[in-house]
Amino acid sequence: MNTSMTVEQRKLLDLHLQLILEVNKTTNLTRITDWDQGQLLHVEDSLFGLSALLKAPEGRYADLGTGGGFPGIPLAIMSGRQTLLVDSVKKKITALESVIHQLGLQDQISTYAGRIEDLSLQQPESLSVITARALSSLPSLLELASPLLQYGGHLICYKSNPDQDELDTAKNISHKLGMEYSYHYEGYLSDNTTHRMIIVYTKVSEPEVALPRRVGMAQKKPFKS
Ligand code: SAH
Repeated sequence: MNTSMTVEQRKLLDLHLQLILEVNKTTNLTRITDWDQGQLLHVEDSLFGLSALLKAPEGRYADLGTGGGFPGIPLAIMSGRQTLLVDSVKKKITALESVIHQLGLQDQISTYAGRIEDLSLQQPESLSVITARALSSLPSLLELASPLLQYGGHLICYKSNPDQDELDTAKNISHKLGMEYSYHYEGYLSDNTTHRMIIVYTKVSEPEVALPRRVGMAQKKPFKS
């Protein structure tokens, strides 16, 4: 995985993790406090989705529910895409803004402090590609992403071991939300035990329901059929 990484990119990836572990002492961004665990479960895991991001149509990228900027910041560093980091917790976004400045990436990466549902009302169909890790179930992710994506845009979902039920429900409701399953890949991180799956959906049509629904509904009462 490291073969096509420049020295500058490696430095930025390391600095991002270092800054997050530092900030984490005062602002709760992640449960991980250890450098090696952070390299594996944050940096390397984030980059597991890089090939999917590189395949997505050109244009603006957003990481929804970004927390400490994972996978958004590593993917921005590796892809050079214009990137928007979204989180509803204001103090997380304030901490991330400082991190982005210290990385010198303020021209490439911007932030939105607010709910994903509100962003989609303000900037509908404005994105070519979205990622989400540890945010919600697949049905909720499909619903949250759909109104933000341009036609042909990709939703890249990071999952560890989705159960068959979650995959089936996502399949059953995707059409209603204007989304369609495109492809997935899976594998293990370098510890050979952490299993990861990347599942990609494409925005293909107008949703059959008005989106976004009221704030909170997508995550509290996701569509089941
Ligand atoms: N993606 C990060 C963080 C996951 S925790 C990682 O994998 O490490 C989920 C994050 O999503 C939290 O920071 C939470 O504040 C944010 N979040 C949850 N629902 C949201 C919503 N509807 N709109 C915006 N942010 C949301």
